[in-house]
Amino acid sequence: MVTTPPITFSLAARDGQARAGILNTRRGTIETPVFMPVGTAGTVKATRFEVLEEELDARIILGNTYHLWLRPGVDVIRACGGLHKFIGWSRALLTDSGGFQVWSLGALRKISEEGTEFRSHVDGSLRFLSPEVSMEVQAGLGSDIVMVFDECAPGKATHDEARASLELTARWAKRSREKFDQLQREGCDTGSIGFSLPADTRGSTVTGNIALQRDCPTGELAMPALPEGLTGAQSLFGIVQGAAHRDLRRESLERTMEIGFDGYAIGGLSVGEEKSVMWDLVDEVAPLLPPDRPRYLMGVGSPEDLIEAVARGVDMFDCVLPTRNGRTGQAFTSRGKLNVKNAQWAEDRRPLDESCRCSVCQRHSRAYLRHLHQTGEMLAGILLTHHNLAFFLDTMRRVRQSIRSGYFPKFRREFIDRLSESGE
Ligand SMILES: [Zn+2]
Repeated sequence: MVTTPPITFSLAARDGQARAGILNTRRGTIETPVFMPVGTAGTVKATRFEVLEEELDARIILGNTYHLWLRPGVDVIRACGGLHKFIGWSRALLTDSGGFQVWSLGALRKISEEGTEFRSHVDGSLRFLSPEVSMEVQAGLGSDIVMVFDECAPGKATHDEARASLELTARWAKRSREKFDQLQREGCDTGSIGFSLPADTRGSTVTGNIALQRDCPTGELAMPALPEGLTGAQSLFGIVQGAAHRDLRRESLERTMEIGFDGYAIGGLSVGEEKSVMWDLVDEVAPLLPPDRPRYLMGVGSPEDLIEAVARGVDMFDCVLPTRNGRTGQAFTSRGKLNVKNAQWAEDRRPLDESCRCSVCQRHSRAYLRHLHQTGEMLAGILLTHHNLAFFLDTMRRVRQSIRSGYFPKFRREFIDRLSESGE
């Protein structure tokens, strides 16, 4: 039986392990490898959506289940017709499951078979997140790519600890899959496009959402036409865990693939382990993932990390570095990082990056950006974030081009060499 999928992924070119692909989602086409700007609380900080869409041409951004669930709450977002309508973004959205954020709370959380109990960082209230709750929240958000609820073992976890965590993650992945499928059948996905359900399975939630969407002032967003061959439903990605143990990573991968997902993520990396450990594990896992599904390395990373991961066959990335560092005065450039605070830029009329074509580099000097930063002007964070996102997204465009044209190894070598010619 041929079933219609929620997303499709095809490879346009390969160069060594590096892949250039086309990911079709219900909200548009995404060329991979792709960097996804992080929109933690429903905003890519300091960046307007018009800019993300028009000048930066970001095709997909991230939302955080944990943050949006606590504030404003999924009921508010549901009442406003889902996350796309609430924030005013009609392109693709990926939401994480909240698993990583809850894990990051450390002593403030208690993990059991059922899920994770924790204290909200917003108001101190006791909250409970489980695979089922996470799937319900992500259906309410209506994101296009949903992540399973996982447990993240620390990078230095012993074999026994990592195994226990892997086993729990596998059971949670199965529960996530079952709840996700049920919610899709019941029509609880607020972002659904053209996904028609048999009359007898339509839940009251569907009617409720439609009525509420009419009342919401932000519900004017034009719905994209559903690309041919897609169901219009949400897609679900599984996550491979196993800490720093190669055998456990392999086992986690097999068990995740057994359940079956639309895409596969490698989780629990870039959490304090040595870089060499991370690359060993990606080397181990990536070639074993199904070649016809997108591969996502969660929370990675710096420009050089992106290039190194692409060289190992990874297709999707997210990281807070360009936005977070932009707000603290750090620019990523083709010649390495540049800190605008440094006195050496006080009268420097050059742009942040002489080879960057972004609108900030076309208009403003390092001297001006330094002045804005030193005087605490909010425009400093806005302009630096813009340049950083432009640099990350443009780097990925060049990566894709180099793979398609068969010179990725040369591009990789030259890109990494140039990064060490720091402007400072
Ligand atoms: Zn620039």
